[in-house]
Amino acid sequence: MALTKNIRSLSKEELTEWVLSKGEKKYRAAQIWEWLWKKHARHFDEMTSISKELRDLMKGEFTFPALSIHTIQHSSDGTIKVAFKTADDNIMEGVLIPTDGRQTACVSSQVGCSLGCKFCATGFMGHMRNLTFDEIYDQAATLNEIALEHYGKKLSNIVYMGMGEPMLNYRNVLKSIEMVTSNDGLAMSPRRITVSTSGIAKMIKRLGDDEVRFHLALSLHAASDDKRSRIMPINDSNNIESLMDALEYFYEKTGNDITYEYILFKNLNDSIQDADNLIKLYRRVPVRLVNLIEYNPIDQADFEKPDREKTQKFMDYLAAHRVNVRLRLSRGKDIDAACGQLANKGLEKSEAGH
Ligand code: SAH
Ligand code: SF4
Repeated sequence: MALTKNIRSLSKEELTEWVLSKGEKKYRAAQIWEWLWKKHARHFDEMTSISKELRDLMKGEFTFPALSIHTIQHSSDGTIKVAFKTADDNIMEGVLIPTDGRQTACVSSQVGCSLGCKFCATGFMGHMRNLTFDEIYDQAATLNEIALEHYGKKLSNIVYMGMGEPMLNYRNVLKSIEMVTSNDGLAMSPRRITVSTSGIAKMIKRLGDDEVRFHLALSLHAASDDKRSRIMPINDSNNIESLMDALEYFYEKTGNDITYEYILFKNLNDSIQDADNLIKLYRRVPVRLVNLIEYNPIDQADFEKPDREKTQKFMDYLAAHRVNVRLRLSRGKDIDAACGQLANKGLEKSEAGH
């Protein structure tokens, strides 16, 4: 018989039924559930409060494809990048970013990404596969353990800004957030979670219909269709107008925070005219914040970031027009852990160093 059923795909009720069908007491199911989620076991044999007989029965009927840690890299600024390995030997990355008072985990939703944004290293990998909800949970739970170990603090925030497009793996992303926010899981508030999307209008509306409680970030990066299409092919099928509509809908349904992300590219989207266009889009939807992002150079592209002066001018102009704007400097650059740099680089190097 093929072993196909992942034990973590069971609901609590299904697990309880299974436990009862083996003639075991109901509280055993609660114990196993706790091992699977809150205690974050990675193998059946870690479930030390469960009898060997019952563990063997589980092993006979279920798989437990948890992520394992492949490599860990430490940046001089405190950022920690973890390369995770899936049970079927894919590698993907998650990052822990400590800032004053915060421990933020950046998690991946897919191995690779199909959307091919011209500035993003992940986009150049192509799409391998979607991650399952339990694999996404594993990243958050592991980064939480690392935060406790290194900084003595639990995760305070999670951003879905690692590899992949969360809206193209919708169900797993939402289910992972369900477990992360559950009292049976990491018990985090959904208000501490931000999902970033390159902008798929239909799915943004669906978030509204599902009345999600987490925040949304739109990777805007250009405020006119012709410029945006040049750097983000997804804009051809999801133009700015359709995204504004979808965001309005999302806001009406949920009232959750919306952020625009805007990477500054030298001589592409950094003029005062570009800032004016951005201001118009800022007024279109109740956007809480514009996050200006420093471009992190990648090997595959020859974009450049504007100099400090130009960046400051762009920012001051927005602020003078009452835009709530913030500049996000990149973190973890020395280990390729910064936004858009996640492409499983540096693994050989760090392996050799171990
Ligand atoms: N696919 C989603 C989430 C992952 S990307 C999205 O595109 O929003 C997370 C963020 O990193 C996005 O805002 C993305 O545009 C940004 N990013 C990608 N490449 C980058 C680079 N080279 N420098 C800076 N930010 C980058
Ligand atoms: Fe995919 Fe986001 Fe990278 Fe674009 S920026 S290629 S959507 S991961």
